[in-house]
Amino acid sequence: MTTARTPAAGETRICPHCKATILKSALSCPACNHVLKFDAVGTGPRSIPARCPLSIEGTIRHHGRGEVLEYSVLLEVHDETGKVISRQVVGVGAFQQAETRTFCLRVEVSPPERSVIVRDLRSGSVS
Ligand SMILES: [Zn+2]
Repeated sequence: MTTARTPAAGETRICPHCKATILKSALSCPACNHVLKFDAVGTGPRSIPARCPLSIEGTIRHHGRGEVLEYSVLLEVHDETGKVISRQVVGVGAFQQAETRTFCLRVEVSPPERSVIVRDLRSGSVS
């Protein structure tokens, strides 16, 4: 037996493949690209492609003085009043002389998908 419900806007879940926190409405994981849900053809509204109103890419080059440099990638999201909604370190690492690191930030926005999450009541799993 199964039940179905539409997730609330902004509701999250953990990707079963890469363990990233993602939108519950996502049809695929933006981190690992695994498909998480399938929409049956013709059974619901069409998916609206995500827009990308913010996309930034930048490269940092080692300053060339020999020592290894470490880096931390800190991501903060603020609301319209400046209040921090989330703050997390999304990556760390190190690079040596003559190496570079390129960082890309993409913010995708879209209305919540209208696909349903199907809960298998026998196993308690969500698909
Ligand atoms: Zn994933």
